[in-house]
Amino acid sequence: MRAEDLRGLELLGEDPKHGFPLFGNARLMIMGMVPLARLHQDLVRRLGEEGAAKMCLRYGYEAGLGMATNLAGLYQWDDDLEWLKAGSALRHGTGLAREELSHLEFEPAARHLLIKGRWLLSMEAEIWRQTFGTAAHPICHILTGMTSGYASAVWGSEVLVREISCAAQGHDHCVFEGRPVQEWGMQPQEMRDFLALDTVEEEVRRLKNALAKARSEALAQSAELERLRRRQTVPSESEGVIHRSETMARVLELARKVAPSSTTVLIHGETGTGKEVLARYLHHHSGRAAHPFLAINCAALPPNLLESELFGHVKGAFTGADRDKKGLFVEAGQGSLFLDEVGELPLELQAKLLRALQEREVRPVGGSRDQPVKARIIAASNRNLKKMARQGQFREDLYFRLAVIPMEIPPLRERRQDILPLARFFLARYCPQSPGFAPEAVRLMQAHAWPGNVRELENAMEYAGVLAGQERIGPEHLPQAVTGGPEDPLAALASDFPSQEELVRRYTGQVLRHTGGNKAQAARILGIGSNTLWRRLRGGGEEDEK
Ligand SMILES: [Zn+2]
Repeated sequence: MRAEDLRGLELLGEDPKHGFPLFGNARLMIMGMVPLARLHQDLVRRLGEEGAAKMCLRYGYEAGLGMATNLAGLYQWDDDLEWLKAGSALRHGTGLAREELSHLEFEPAARHLLIKGRWLLSMEAEIWRQTFGTAAHPICHILTGMTSGYASAVWGSEVLVREISCAAQGHDHCVFEGRPVQEWGMQPQEMRDFLALDTVEEEVRRLKNALAKARSEALAQSAELERLRRRQTVPSESEGVIHRSETMARVLELARKVAPSSTTVLIHGETGTGKEVLARYLHHHSGRAAHPFLAINCAALPPNLLESELFGHVKGAFTGADRDKKGLFVEAGQGSLFLDEVGELPLELQAKLLRALQEREVRPVGGSRDQPVKARIIAASNRNLKKMARQGQFREDLYFRLAVIPMEIPPLRERRQDILPLARFFLARYCPQSPGFAPEAVRLMQAHAWPGNVRELENAMEYAGVLAGQERIGPEHLPQAVTGGPEDPLAALASDFPSQEELVRRYTGQVLRHTGGNKAQAARILGIGSNTLWRRLRGGGEEDEK
């Protein structure tokens, strides 16, 4: 989970037992601005400005610590940096201010941290101005305390955030800066004394222990994370392919590189991974965008219809051909033609397709004249065409023609970072009035294997949107498959429609796992001889003794 995927307001819930509002898992008290202003006024009058400031700072610090731990438990953050950045969205969610980070240096290895940013529409500054007029120095103590506490929890030791200038002084907005206390020239104990935080020291220790565990997990992935940090994620929504993962970013990078050429592209990916979306992306970036993008699913039509659909026919070519018809190869003009499930193309049409690619010409059914092909061909399959070619189920020469540039779309379970952005995208499409997801629903969605990939996710969002209406999406609104209802073992083995041989191989593996590797027992369950089992495991043929 990344910070940009957090919506502060989604954390607002209702305690099912007592009906109190919740912020994450913690009970929430809602207090309006007017009584808060009165309380603040009293504090300043009774304790003096400095005393009141310390109290606010301390209150904010504890609230910030609590929020950070709350948030660490609610979501699985990609890394500490994302967890840290999520604090900004959270403070916005509290209604205290809108926070914008302008500068962030996060280098745990070098023990270096620098946070710079601004607070817009600070409630504290507003209250101050209404009560006391223009301030002589910065006064957003709850905010600085809260930001300090949150950052300290993430950083694992004291971080102090200071307000450099404040809207209460007559500025447009407040400006703040945060560093580890040592970098301010203070000792951690000084800060604790300053905040009178000794009473929460225990709490800090407890937090640190919890954090050490999360931290070591994060460190294990640090190489990958460093790469992620360096890469600025491009705002992908506008380009039509929703993604957050590095794997998908690499696929799209390759797509942008190969898009301008006319070379044939072969896209491989499990069912539902979005092969047509990638094909459209290629088309869009190809310089052919002004020309048509035509798509056809080769598995959806019987061979004779498919032939005339692809290559066209002349009047009288067959019964019902009462006029000439242009095929898709010609109709696509200088655009792109997308052949989905190309592995299902019958052998005789494979020959015609090969000719179209080699000679750049097609001949309509019943016709005697060739027509030129100018379109770029993008093919896709969820089957392993290379293997099919080896086994004689697909023309090898055609395979090599198609696979000049092979591209692979990874299944959703291998790019979990994309799940939430995609879920939000589909939810907005099917249920624009939805207030979003409860944290528990997010956790379930991120844990699910999504055997049906993006299409399954899309269907799940449509389903959840219908069930939840204007409510927040909770676990009860998600399809049973996602919430971990009884799993269909066949679906787990065959969700990507493998070949029969592949299915048998997977099932054999499943049975072997079930028997704990006992081959004799596995062979008994499978009803085959142990020699056959042995051959299967070695990847050999299937002629067996029955
Ligand atoms: Zn301020």
